[in-house]
Amino acid sequence: MDFELTPEQRAMRELARRVGDEFRERAAEVEASGRFPWENIRRLADVGLLGLTIPPEYGGTGGSLFDAVLVMEEIARGCYVTAMAALGELGVQSQILARFADADLKRRVLPRVVRGESILAIAISEPEAGSDAGHVATRAEPVAGGVRLRGNKIYISRADVADVFIVYCRFGDAPGPRGVGAVAVERDTPGFFVTSCDTTMGGERLGQLFFDDCFVPDDHVLVRENGFRRMMEAFNGQRLLNAAICLGLAQGALDEAVAYARRRRQFDRRLADFQGLRWMLADMHVDVEAARLLIWRAAARAGQGFPDVREAAVAKTFANEMAIRVTNQALQVFGAAGYMRGSYVERALRGARFGAIGGGTVQIQRNLIAHHLLDEPGS
Ligand SMILES: Cc1cc2nc3c(=O)[nH]c(=O)nc-3n(C[C@H](O)[C@H](O)[C@H](O)COP(=O)(O)OP(=O)(O)OC[C@H]3O[C@@H](n4cnc5c(N)ncnc54)[C@H](O)[C@@H]3O)c2cc1C
Repeated sequence: MDFELTPEQRAMRELARRVGDEFRERAAEVEASGRFPWENIRRLADVGLLGLTIPPEYGGTGGSLFDAVLVMEEIARGCYVTAMAALGELGVQSQILARFADADLKRRVLPRVVRGESILAIAISEPEAGSDAGHVATRAEPVAGGVRLRGNKIYISRADVADVFIVYCRFGDAPGPRGVGAVAVERDTPGFFVTSCDTTMGGERLGQLFFDDCFVPDDHVLVRENGFRRMMEAFNGQRLLNAAICLGLAQGALDEAVAYARRRRQFDRRLADFQGLRWMLADMHVDVEAARLLIWRAAARAGQGFPDVREAAVAKTFANEMAIRVTNQALQVFGAAGYMRGSYVERALRGARFGAIGGGTVQIQRNLIAHHLLDEPGS
């Protein structure tokens, strides 16, 4: 398998790195303020990166998941909060809309996403359905011209700013995943409320949604019952972008630790001259490189589609746990300077903790991998 980047991909990665470096200048302030980084989202739109995976007919560049992975690593390296803010636009939400939404909704929403004017969210998790996403209880009752939505969602990224929410809900009486489909709900829809938002350990905000007999017209129904499998296939792309965010945080923390080890002196020598730290840094490098290869393999094989479930699960599990290890070790290289609130490595460690939970926990990824190894025909 050839991972030689094309000249266009190299240029795009360079651009993303430059923009990521700009974000990095203000990342600590953005995180401490708890606000949504609109200026960074607009900057990504201005340089043409926000519509990277959106088809050209809606103003995007029709890039692949591999392109998105390259860009996401660089954004996360600069600013974790911005990477989480751009996840809906670069990730599965815009892909789901591009594939499953009605033509009018696509024409209205996707060009606004490309311009950084519209933020997308995906709402799966509920108080009683976290890892067990196939058992969501939010119901879509059929009525004339559409469905009425009842239920609530929790831990929804970008809930306080998004204007279109892709909501997983239950159609008909089929139990478990078979009954699950999805609808698009616009923010100003009567009966739809964002009831609260809380700041996480990493600095982004997650919100709660409430649907009180909320009417959703037929042209906003994305998939009805039996659509869960297709929606989760799309979600494998999100898992790789989650992994790419972890990769960016780990690479950024490693770079910081290497620079610090070169300049900090103790016992009349550079930290970089102590064998214990040299091997620690070498192991961190091995970890980062291995994660990048797993992510790139899964993304490259996806082509213009969605990645293989096993490959995405392997890449996500490794990258999630790698990022916790590497950012934690980077903090150790800094000593107390790394432990100070707001330092790069302190923020990277807190941000990296998201990956092993969001997008399906590492335990759930291991269940998927084990299912492939142990239960599938031919295994
Ligand atoms: C930063 C962040 C952003 C998020 N954004 C969104 C979003 O935009 N939209 C959305 O819908 N959700 C979002 N979530 C929620 C996320 O999808 C859930 O947190 C995740 O699916 C796990 O659900 P839970 O937290 O309820 O944990 P639970 O499902 O209650 O799990 C608790 C623990 O038990 C383990 N566990 C559960 N079942 C099994 C099993 N079968 N085998 C082994 N271990 C198991 C889990 O791995 C975990 O360690 C976000 C979460 C975070 C942290």
